[in-house]
Amino acid sequence: MSWKDSFFSLLGKLNPRFLAFAERQMKNIPGVGKKIDEEYAGIMAGLESSAKPYKNKFAAFTQIPETGRSHAEILRDMEAMRAQEESHWKDGFVSGAVYHGDQEHIDFLNQVYAINSQSNSLHADVWPSATKFEAEIVAMTGNMLGGAGLDVCGTVSSGGTESIMLAMKTYRDQAREMKGITKPEMIVPITAHAAFDKASQYFNIKTVHIPVDENFRADVNAARKAITANTIALVGSAPSFPHGAIDPISELSELAREKHIGFHTDACLGGFVLPWAEKLGYPVPPFDFRLPGVTSMSADTHKYGYAAKGTSVVLYRSQDLRHFQYYTSTEWPGGLYFSPTFAGSRPGALSAACWAALTAIGAQGYLSATGKILETAAAIKKGIREIPELHVLGDPLFVVAFASDTINVYKVLDYMSHKNWSLNGLHKPTCVHLCVTLRHAQPGVAERFLNDLREAVQHVKQHPQEKGSMAPVYGMAATLPLRGMVSDLLKKYLDLIFKV
Ligand SMILES: *Cc1c(COP(=O)(O)O)cnc(C)c1O
Repeated sequence: MSWKDSFFSLLGKLNPRFLAFAERQMKNIPGVGKKIDEEYAGIMAGLESSAKPYKNKFAAFTQIPETGRSHAEILRDMEAMRAQEESHWKDGFVSGAVYHGDQEHIDFLNQVYAINSQSNSLHADVWPSATKFEAEIVAMTGNMLGGAGLDVCGTVSSGGTESIMLAMKTYRDQAREMKGITKPEMIVPITAHAAFDKASQYFNIKTVHIPVDENFRADVNAARKAITANTIALVGSAPSFPHGAIDPISELSELAREKHIGFHTDACLGGFVLPWAEKLGYPVPPFDFRLPGVTSMSADTHKYGYAAKGTSVVLYRSQDLRHFQYYTSTEWPGGLYFSPTFAGSRPGALSAACWAALTAIGAQGYLSATGKILETAAAIKKGIREIPELHVLGDPLFVVAFASDTINVYKVLDYMSHKNWSLNGLHKPTCVHLCVTLRHAQPGVAERFLNDLREAVQHVKQHPQEKGSMAPVYGMAATLPLRGMVSDLLKKYLDLIFKV
């Protein structure tokens, strides 16, 4: 063990609050702060070429050009960038990201966008078409998710993160009004999406994390113990982003019902897969409004709903609950103002494209797409299980996470990246996942993935001394006890993203 390893392993055993304090003190020591900044700058310089591949290749602007560029020129540059980027996701090398991607479907959505491009859902009087589309998107999604015959309602949002944040804000405001809770807490499995933590930070809701079991499903007993008089909501995923595990939603939502608190099923990822998987005979545990304790859900139309990016649905069991989401202003000189979600003006064209996707694909289309995805995922799962060095985490339906007890799986990820794959590197525990979409259901893609993966494992086994390019960064990010430094590094990376 190097001194660094021993130092960090010692730090890892210390109390997190002490660590945060020690970290701040350390950064305030003049020499140390400077040294750390130099380290960051070095790391960022190394990342710049991959983050900014178009530097010096296309016209770049830091000011609005004096005379406008020709449409032809702009379109030519964009076509060139598309040509660079398209085959990567289109040929199925990317985990998640593009969930449908057939050209005919894309062309159709583009046509719908063009027809509706000026529409703003904020102005229901000018574009009643937009509100028609949104009302029906919510109704169709609610009925698909067990809301038939109930008063399930909701709104269209800009994405899964917004749906989740809206739901948590809604519970916060409900609990304040109905129960006088001023120090709200929500109980969230550690595997739930980061959007819950984002809601916690934005809306001052304390997150109480609960662990997951060996199959990455939330621990119900821990949830029971975590409930206090300040608990406003309990959360479960169907399935979770990291390992594709479906939390024990029945038990969790029953617990919430018994304790008179909200329960949110995050079906951002699975909302448009699980209902069809169930119909196809796959083992899908109950997760939706058919469970009486489920009081809200999120389901992303822009994932397996196959809509264009920028829409999601947040659903509530009752209109009373939905009211806590709405914003109204009665005193503003700008007039009576009200909006259902975080945004003011909203892209009506995206709602139109979402409505068009749902109605053009239809139940039969979703069934058949889901069938293809689940068969592909099963083949990939089986293939990974046949590689002795790897194991699949839990027993997922369509997000396949794998790890290894014998080799460094981040090095496998590195090798796969050189083979053009964009997989997700995860941590706590160290693993890699592939979120299977229709792109991977194309002929030959699953075989290519497994061939490359076998090759990657062999390579890593045979070259134990190779460091890999990103593997050390992942390793460091996963194990560094000074989480504030990792956070700073991510902020610097965001700065790099916005650098011209
Ligand atoms: C993708 C995802 C989200 C967040 O969705 P965005 O659309 O990226 O904001 C939330 N929860 C789960 C389980 C997801 O997979």
